[in-house]
Amino acid sequence: MQRAQRIAVVGAGLGGLTCAALLQRAGFVVMVYEQAATFARIGAGIILSANVMKVLRALGLERPLLEVGIAPDAFVSRTWDTGETLFELTLDAASERRFGGPYINVHRGDLHAVLASAVKPGSIAFGHCLVGLEASGAAVSLAFENGTRHEADIVIGADGIRSKVREVLLGPEPPRFTGRVAQRAIFKTERLGGQPMRDCTKWWGPDRHLLAYFMTRRRDEVYLMGSVPAVSWDREELSLACPPGELIEAFQNFHAEIRRLVEAATTVVVSPICDRPRHDGWSAGPIALLGDACHPVRPYMAAGGAMAVEDAAILSRCLILFGDADPAAALRCYVATRIPRVREVQRISMENSWLNGPTATDWYFCYDALTAPLMRALEDPLGYT
Ligand SMILES: Cc1cc2nc3c(=O)[nH]c(=O)nc-3n(C[C@H](O)[C@H](O)[C@H](O)COP(=O)(O)OP(=O)(O)OC[C@H]3O[C@@H](n4cnc5c(N)ncnc54)[C@H](O)[C@@H]3O)c2cc1C
Repeated sequence: MQRAQRIAVVGAGLGGLTCAALLQRAGFVVMVYEQAATFARIGAGIILSANVMKVLRALGLERPLLEVGIAPDAFVSRTWDTGETLFELTLDAASERRFGGPYINVHRGDLHAVLASAVKPGSIAFGHCLVGLEASGAAVSLAFENGTRHEADIVIGADGIRSKVREVLLGPEPPRFTGRVAQRAIFKTERLGGQPMRDCTKWWGPDRHLLAYFMTRRRDEVYLMGSVPAVSWDREELSLACPPGELIEAFQNFHAEIRRLVEAATTVVVSPICDRPRHDGWSAGPIALLGDACHPVRPYMAAGGAMAVEDAAILSRCLILFGDADPAAALRCYVATRIPRVREVQRISMENSWLNGPTATDWYFCYDALTAPLMRALEDPLGYT
């Protein structure tokens, strides 16, 4: 079924690509505008929990992701100095049945390639950096840095934490630096010289932590992500190469097992960890925000990307349900449905407490954005006319 509305998705990240793929399958004409000239293989891993995988399974992506990533046997939390196990979440056939999907750790570049394969060929316009949005009759006109303009009936701002669409809706406001930086490294497992490593472990220290996991089912590639305190981030760049010695120094007092891990890193990239104070203005008329554009979360629950994917599923369901009749109401329904869940995830992520001991996980992992109840909302919080 072909639908009348033209949808512009700004940003070909996790949320934007998922949203575009779901809406295209429902018959909408969707174009994705991405500022980058092409996809780059960003050096980082990402955890996709069962709640994410249910959505990606509907796009036929579960098998390809299991091919390129790894379904870890457990998520293990350990104490930084003694190495004592604080909690172990077993991930097996039983947990998969219980949560309704697998748990997959994967290289972000590989995830991106798989996601992009779900979008119709020719529907991503690279080299399109959005610089402005304005009403144009019943439609919205999008202006890009390369001088082109395009029109759409509905605009989805999936353009990340420094979202231009957010700026147009809410005014300029830089993200908030949280006083921490992420130190990330990827290296070949052979650099561990035979030291055994569990599939996925978070080492909890007093003021810092380090997450270590394999990113492939061959277990031949290791990803480390350390979160450490930092006074400020006064650089223009959003990530920088840093000497591996800085990672070693940051975790020098940790357990010998972790010290051997950080010593194996060859290249390390450091970036500021940012978020924003909560703001519930995610939609205005036919324009809505999604993912980090409206609710960036601190990366301590592995949930920021998950929330973007869930957003995409709920948003597409709302548009499918009553978008042809009233897109603005569809977008309000999306916002009303998403805010309570995202608020809880933001709270836990700020607390950095997820899985550091026995944790009630069903409410999070069992959630199915493809079937969860939708909530109706009548008010437009930003008063779009
Ligand atoms: C250290 C770290 C570890 C993390 N680990 C996890 C994890 O394990 N699991 C998890 O679920 N989440 C994790 N996250 C969070 C996750 O990365 C983000 O929440 C997720 O990428 C958000 O997806 P998004 O689609 O909203 O935005 P993004 O993925 O940031 O995509 C935004 C896209 O918009 C494009 N764009 C930006 N501006 C414009 C413009 N003006 N015009 C056109 N295009 C534009 C960008 O180039 C980009 O492609 C982590 C985050 C960090 C910092």
